This record gives sequence, structure tokens and C-alpha cells, in this order.
Amino acid sequence: MSAHPMPASDAAGQPAIVRLAGVVKSYGSHNAIDHVDLEIRPRELFTLLGPSGSGKSTVLRAIAGLIGIDGGTLTIEGRDVRDVPTHQRNIGMVFQSLALFPHMSVFDNIAFPLRMRREPQGGIGRRVAQALDIVRLPNIAERRVHELSGGQQQRVALARALVYNPRLLLLDEPLGALDKRLREEMQLEIVRLHREIDVTIINVTHDQVEAMILSDRVGVMNDGKLMQVGSGETLYRRPASRFVADFLGRANVIDGVLTGGPDGPAVVTPGGARIAVTPERTVAEGRAATAILRAEDIGMATAPAGPASLAGEVALRLFEGETVYYEVTAPGIDRPVRLASRTGEIPVGAKVWLTWPRDKVWAVEAGHG
Ligand code: ADP
Repeated sequence: MSAHPMPASDAAGQPAIVRLAGVVKSYGSHNAIDHVDLEIRPRELFTLLGPSGSGKSTVLRAIAGLIGIDGGTLTIEGRDVRDVPTHQRNIGMVFQSLALFPHMSVFDNIAFPLRMRREPQGGIGRRVAQALDIVRLPNIAERRVHELSGGQQQRVALARALVYNPRLLLLDEPLGALDKRLREEMQLEIVRLHREIDVTIINVTHDQVEAMILSDRVGVMNDGKLMQVGSGETLYRRPASRFVADFLGRANVIDGVLTGGPDGPAVVTPGGARIAVTPERTVAEGRAATAILRAEDIGMATAPAGPASLAGEVALRLFEGETVYYEVTAPGIDRPVRLASRTGEIPVGAKVWLTWPRDKVWAVEAGHG
């Protein structure tokens, strides 16, 4: 679900603030960005999500002008920025390293980009104070950066990126080094900040939960390619490929052939297991298909639960706190089926029957990523 007050669709009709068309960036024979088309809408909080090495940072660095591109076009606010240097792109940036000057004061760190831009001395104090206000850090301007906590340093880095009112804020895993609690606090801080100031944010992360919490839209990358763009909920519920399904959340991806029949559509595995799937169509009958069965959508009982249930045996049970994680082996399915149970009263070795609402089970054409 989007955390942003403005649904992404409200901005859908507006011209893109950043536009990549057929963008390629290669290192040797490898395309770090492989023909990427992407439009970022004004005021949206967009996240590039993908495994390490998938090309997320390279896209961000190309937008920032820290690297050039080898093919395609990149425009910001309608202007081809091929020959526009970073400092003229009106972009604020925060990296995981933060790149603050540890022995300088908070004030001097935040004032640094203004002084680089030769802002008149008189305005600097006011603008630094405003930036500190935005990140909710009043009264620490004279402290040295190395005396601050990790979370305070994050806020200083954000304030420095925002002090010259950039139209675009680029975040390259700035929360990556934080512990879980601080990370969650800063995620909410970014959402709040995005609500309060007029800025478009492009965020990079490999953390799927962070991507879904923060973003109006998420773009999933793999091996230099943009696999799918959509709201977190769309990517989670209606992934376009096996890769996206597997990357977000805990999914069972089960290969077979899409089959019709009086009981409704199912993916039937080579071993003969029937996985009932939604009648919503993206794969034609008779085609090789992958059923995507999410762990939290599966129910488990020790008695047969209707004709559509799948029989199996509990192979693993792990207490996780809120839920209990199970693996169930089932005839006709290669890998154990993974599921999350709220009650978790069934022991290892029990014979069980698995059920799920078929509407929750999506199918994609096999072999697409
Ligand atoms: P991510 O941000 O998704 O972790 P990157 O964009 O950093 O991925 O990297 C994408 C690919 O490009 C990786 O295979 C990486 O090794 C390669 N790459 C990135 N920068 C360079 C560079 N300066 N020289 C050579 N290869 C690079």
C-alpha cells in the first residue's frame, strides 16, 4: 500500500520529471543498464528494487550525471542532460556512506553545498536552519558530526541534500547500514518529508519491505533490465514474471501446464499435482505456466478440506514469533511447499491437507525471467 497521500495515478497525466528511453550503460561486454525505459512522475516517491549488482545504483548515478550513458536518452524536466554536469541538474543526493565531513560542525556540513554554489553569506544561516527544521534536528548546528548518533547523521545528510531545494532527491541505500529500529524510524521520516516538501524522490534498495512501505511505485531490476514497474501491491499480487514473484515476499513458485476443467483452472505439475489458480487470465490453456502461491495464503488442516486441497506431510516447523513457518512435502511437487501458520499447533510428521483461496493464486507464463 502506498504511504503517500497522493495516489500515483493523480500524477499519471503529467509529463515525466525524469525519463529514460532505451538507456544502456556498459562496462566491458556487460550491460550494467540494459535498454531501460522508465518515466518518473513529478512528486512521486519511486524505488528501484533488485538484488545486489542488478544495476540500480548505475541508473541513479546516470540520472545524477556521475557517469555518462552509452546509448538511449536521458531527460530531466524535458531537457536532454547528456551535456549537463551534475551540479547543474538540481539534484540532491544521499549515499549509504553519507559522505559527511566528520570533524566539521553540522552547520558547516549543511552549508557546504551552498558555499560551493557561491550563495550570498546572508542567506546561508537561514537556509541551514530551515533544512535542519525539515529533518527535525533543531539546536544541534554547532555540534561536530562525529559526536552524533547514526540516526542524527542520516538526518544531517538529508538536510545537506535538501538545503538548496532540489527538484529531485536521489537516495542510494542511505538506510542500508542502520539497525532495524533506526531504519524503520528513518523510513517513516522519509515518507513524512516527502509529504511535506515539494520534491520527487528516487530511492534505491535491495529491501523489498522498505520498497513497498515507502513508495508510490516500485521498479524491479534484474541483471541490468527493468523487469516490472507498479505499486508495491501490484508487484506483490500480480507479478509479471517468476523473478518478480520470487523476489517479493515468500512465494512458492510451482511449474506445470495451465489446465481448464470443471473445477476451474489449475497449474498441473509434471508429477500430477493440481494447483488451483485464479480464473483471471494471463496465460492460455495448454501453455507452460508457473503458479505463484504465497506462504501466507495457504491454510493447513489435519483432515481433507474439500476437493481442491493438496495432501502432504509436515517436514519442518519453525517458530518465528507472529507466525510459525512450515515446510510441507506433497506428492507431485519438487520442492517443499512453504507456508506461514498463525496457530502452528500441527507437529512435524503430521499428514496434512493444504488449501488456499484460488483468487489469491496468480499464474504467469513459464520462462519469463
Ligand atoms: P546495484 O546497485 O543493483 O547493486 P550496480 O548498479 O552497482 O548494482 O552494478 C551493476 C553492475 O555493473 C554490476 O555487475 C557491477 O559490477 C557493474 N559495475 C558498476 N559500476 C562499475 C564500474 N565502475 N566498473 C565496472 N563494473 C561496474
